[in-house]
Parts: sequence; C-alpha cells; structure tokens
Amino acid sequence: MEDLLKKLVESPSVSGSERNVRDLIMKEIKPHVDDVRIDKIGNLIAKKGSGSPKIMINAHMDEIGLMVKHIDDKGFIRFEPIGGWDSKILQAQKFKIHGSKGPIIGVVGSKAIHLQEREEEKKVTKIKDMFIDIGANNKKEVEKMGVKVGDFVTQHGEFNSLGGSRVTGYGFDDRVGCLELIDIVKSLKKFKGTLYAVGTVKEEIGLIGIRGSTFSVNPDLVISLDVTFSGDVPYLKPHEAIAVIGNGPVLLIKDALSIIQDDIKKWVEDVAKKNKIPLQYDVLSAGATDSSIVSTIREGIPSLAILTPSRYMHTPVEVADIKDVKNAVKLVTELVNSAHKYL
Ligand SMILES: [Zn+2]
Repeated sequence: MEDLLKKLVESPSVSGSERNVRDLIMKEIKPHVDDVRIDKIGNLIAKKGSGSPKIMINAHMDEIGLMVKHIDDKGFIRFEPIGGWDSKILQAQKFKIHGSKGPIIGVVGSKAIHLQEREEEKKVTKIKDMFIDIGANNKKEVEKMGVKVGDFVTQHGEFNSLGGSRVTGYGFDDRVGCLELIDIVKSLKKFKGTLYAVGTVKEEIGLIGIRGSTFSVNPDLVISLDVTFSGDVPYLKPHEAIAVIGNGPVLLIKDALSIIQDDIKKWVEDVAKKNKIPLQYDVLSAGATDSSIVSTIREGIPSLAILTPSRYMHTPVEVADIKDVKNAVKLVTELVNSAHKYL
C-alpha cells in the first residue's frame, strides 16, 4: 500500500494537468473493472458490475500547484497559485517547473535573515512578491530551458515512512483518496448493483470535475474520498479540528457547502458498527469537497464523504496514517456491499 502511495505522490498532477495520476489509476484498476473511459474534460470513469443500485465513488486526482506567470529580464519567474496556498510555506521550497524539455528544478528565493530589517522579520511575503530561481541569468536562458508562461509548477516533496504506520509526503490531498479508490475497486468482489469508480479533475480550483461526471453517470449515491484536518497538533485546540489521525476514517457531517442527510448518516454508522470499523465525525465551518455539491446536480443526488485525517494539509509534509487508509477502504467496501439494502 505504501509503495503505491509513493508512486502516486511522485506523479505530478496539478489541477488541469492530471494525466500522471490518471494513468496510474488506470493501470491499477483496469484488470479489475468491466469498462473504463476518460470523459471530455479528463475525468476517469470506470465501471464494475451491472444493474441497480448505481454507486459512484470518487477521489480528486489534482493537487495544488503554481503556474508560471511572468519571466523577468534577469531570469526570475513570477507565479500564480493554483488552489489554496499558505504563502508562509512557499518560501525556501523547491519546486518542479513542467516545461517543454521536461521538469526543471527551481527554488522560491527568500531574503537571508542577516539582511532583514527588524520589522521585515515579522512580515509574511505576499505571493505576488515571490519568485522562482531556476539558475538562469536572463529571460533567454529561461526560455532555452523550455520554460514559458502558462507552464505548471508542482511541489518537490519526498515520500517517507515515519514512525509506526505514519507516512509523510506532499499531495496526500488527495493521493490518499486515489489510493483508497484503487484499493476499494480491487477489494470489491461480489456485490449487487454497479460500481462507478471516478477520478475527478480540478477539485482544488472549485469542485469542477465532479459536476459533469456525476451528471453523466447519474448514480443513486456518490461517496467522495478525501482528507481532513487532524486536530491533535500543538497549534490547535481539540474543538478546532475534531478528527484525529490514527482514530479511523471520518464521516463528514457538515462543511461550508453541505450537511449530510440523517438517513445516510445512520446507514454509515450502522455499517461501521456491524463491521467493527472505527468511525469519527467532522464538522467544518470552512472548506468543501466533491461530494458537497452533489445534491445540487440533476434533480438532487444523495452523497457522503469519507475522509482520512491528515496533518499539515496543503504543505509538502502532510502526514497520514496507513491504518486510517485501510479502515477507510474497509468501510467504503462494506458500504458498497450493503447499498442494495439501503437504497
Ligand atoms: Zn482534497
């Protein structure tokens, strides 16, 4: 499981350029599904089984990244953020620019502490004032290296195992969900109805891919797989983020755009209890995931989200627990197995 997560993490997949992760999902699930297609905007839609109920599970294939916006005469590259970035963690990081001659390593430069005025030390540099240095002396050299305006830029994080079953890497949001999607497809053998396993595009810039894919599949229910904040870190009070890493998958009760239907909540609780799978809740005031807008598609399609706790989300050092991933796979597999009784 960790090997596949490492491969997913090492596949750059910024919103609008999800091909790498999509190819990997395709390769992994193809032998286990009856049909797989790519729709016109890049969503991967795989089908397994037949008849009703039609259950769609999905994970978003994109990650947050940057885009080349301007190259100055001295060869410094200004960029546009793609998705929700904290400007504090951008500086002094390595990035990969995906230009026409393959990936180029660049660094977001930062002023040495020795050169900063007292007041500057307290200030956060704005993204518009940051730049990437790829080792070029001028604009011509940048262009020679295959870099131009509009190129995608991804984080240059590593995947590593930590203590116990913990792992760290970048883009766990939502490679962890993609890993779960693959594993659920592989572990479902005999079930009643049709399973649609969908890898969606452009979640990070406004829940884009879920709209058309849900409309075309027209399922009875959508289960989105994503990550959520783990609240057990020194900078958070327990009530600020209620899910905790290592304590099991998380049922999303409320976020900025959705509230779960009470009958769906009861079904998930019953399935978790019956199969002795730990279950946590999340109640969020900000943020949303693909499932959050599914009830507004067509005449209204029921949905839920199963989230995996992750520390340090949207940074290059996200931390997740493989135990939670395994329990999320188990829970969603049992939900699909029991859906015909519920729907
Ligand atoms: Zn996500």
